[in-house]
Order: sequence, then structure tokens, then C-alpha cells
Amino acid sequence: MIERSEHGLENPEAGRNAGWHGNQHVRLREAEVTAPPAAGKGRLRIITLGSAAGGGLPQWNCNCHGCRAARRNPTLRNGQMTLAVSADGEHWFLINASPDLRQQIIETPELHPRNGALRHSPIAGVILTGSEVDAVAGLLSLREGTAFSLYAHPDVLAVLRANSIFDVLSPGLVPRMPIALGKPFEPALPDATLSGLVVTAFPVPGKVALYREGADASEGDTIGLELQCGETRALVVPACARLSPELADRLRGADLVFFDGTLWTDDEMIRAGLSEKTGQRMGHMSISGPDGAMAALEGLGIRQKVFVHLNNSNPVLRAGTPEHARVEDAGWRVAAPGMEFTP
Ligand SMILES: [Zn+2]
Repeated sequence: MIERSEHGLENPEAGRNAGWHGNQHVRLREAEVTAPPAAGKGRLRIITLGSAAGGGLPQWNCNCHGCRAARRNPTLRNGQMTLAVSADGEHWFLINASPDLRQQIIETPELHPRNGALRHSPIAGVILTGSEVDAVAGLLSLREGTAFSLYAHPDVLAVLRANSIFDVLSPGLVPRMPIALGKPFEPALPDATLSGLVVTAFPVPGKVALYREGADASEGDTIGLELQCGETRALVVPACARLSPELADRLRGADLVFFDGTLWTDDEMIRAGLSEKTGQRMGHMSISGPDGAMAALEGLGIRQKVFVHLNNSNPVLRAGTPEHARVEDAGWRVAAPGMEFTP
């Protein structure tokens, strides 16, 4: 059974194992999907285009210590979190599309159009982990008529569909592919060959996007991604309210984990006078403390641990602070723009 999708828009049932074959968007038969994709081929490369949380560093209207320092010192500046991942070093998938994406692409030679092609991009697709503004607004910068695939949970695709400005990404050029949680898929390249990268989305304890509070929380509001290439396994968890036993099992033994580093302490933004909200209220566990991420991920046998999605109030963003030293002493790294990881 092959179904042609005329519009590329999601049909939750069509989500599983959808892919490109020739110029057709097809759904594989259930019989074919029982076997998960092969473990992928190539060598995993991940570049952090930006690692800041919503607002970036500096944030336009913020005069906190971190934002003032970043205005004085350009090397401290950091865009909102977007990662680029590749299995072949030639084609790249973005994980989230931050409002800073245009500048982040300019600063990343791997993502520039190939020499000799008038219109081209190595970006083969975008995979979203939620519907927060800092994860989706950069999609608007990817208009201009180049094809790529957009992968997201059906709840996130529903948000994009409800906001017609995202229709600047013509469905004919940018098919929207629903992700089913727990089902591995291998994103396709523009020539319909497989990317060598196997992706599995999974639910993470969290909360609905700020601008959607009042709407019913749903499983797609906060997801993590597992990336597999050959024997290598990396995980991306940009937002996490607490480490559930299921999540701990998934992280255990990974080669590389990018984890929610939004806040150093739960009341950090309140004490700095920046907000009335705790980290927990925003759906983020803090880095420090007995229930924090450093303690929770200790002992899971993870080879490389990296904090991403760092709020501008977080002192670990500034090398030389005692908090930065504690993170490094605990075996973690703090992601900065332009870092590359080859687990
Ligand atoms: Zn600030």
C-alpha cells in the first residue's frame, strides 16, 4: 500500500515510518514497520549552533549580570538552542529552529550553500522537540523556496497549523512529518536516500509551552530525541522537569547526552529579581542540588554530558565562575556556539 500525500500535512495515523521514496511521500505497511530501521551508518557529528534558553544571551530587555557582561564581551554572546546533526558530514538535520537561526547558519560553514550551486542548502530537515517560541520561530527564516522535511510530534504540528504564518513554508516543499513516540525513524535526504541517522522521540516530564498555558497538556509538549548512528547513541533533552525512572533507563550508557541546563538553582530567577517563577514552575529541573541534573545523571554511565538550553541568568555560562568550575569538576561541559561533538 502506497499513499501519496498531496499536501504533506500530518495525519496522525500516517506518521509512523513516513518517508520519501522517489518524489512520493509514502507510508510503509504495518508489516514493514515491525522491523526497526537498521542502526544507521556513518559517523555522528553534532554542532551546537546556539545553547541559550529563550531570550538568548544577551536578552534584548535584560540588564542582569550575565546579559550586561555579554553586551561588553561579544565572545560571551549565545543564541537560543539549535543543534545540527549529521551522519555523513554533508547533509544536516537541525534540532529545533531558534529565532537566531539565520545568524547561526551564517556562522556555521557546514550549513552554507555548496559552491557552484545558485540555490542550495545542506539542511535536509528540521526535527522539533516542542512548540516553544525558541524552538520554532526560526522556521520562518527557512522560507525562500528550498525543500527540506519538518519532523515534529502531532501536537506541535497542530500548533504550526493553527498559526498560518508558518504556511510561508510551502507544504509542497516542506512536508510536515508527524513523529510517533517510541518508534525509530530514519529521516530521508532530498534525493530519497536514507540519512544514516536513526531518530527515536520519547516523552520527557515537562510542561506545555508558556503561550499555550491553559490549553490541555499533552504528551508532545516536551520530548527528547535519541540519535543513533552505527553503535553510537546520543540523546538530546533540552527541557526536563524531573528524571523519571523511564528517562534514566533511556539515558543509561549513552555516548553523549545534551541535557536541560536552564537554571543553576530553582529560585535563581526570583532571587535575581527577573521573574516570579521557579524552574519547576517553568518545567525545568535545576543543575545543582540534591534533585538537580548533576546529581540525577551521576552514575548512569554516560560517556559525555553537556548542558544546553542555558538561561542568561545561569552563572555556568561564564567561565571563571565557581558554578562553572563545579559543573566541569562533575564531568560536564557547557555547550557554546560552534562546538562540535563526535561521540
Ligand atoms: Zn539577563
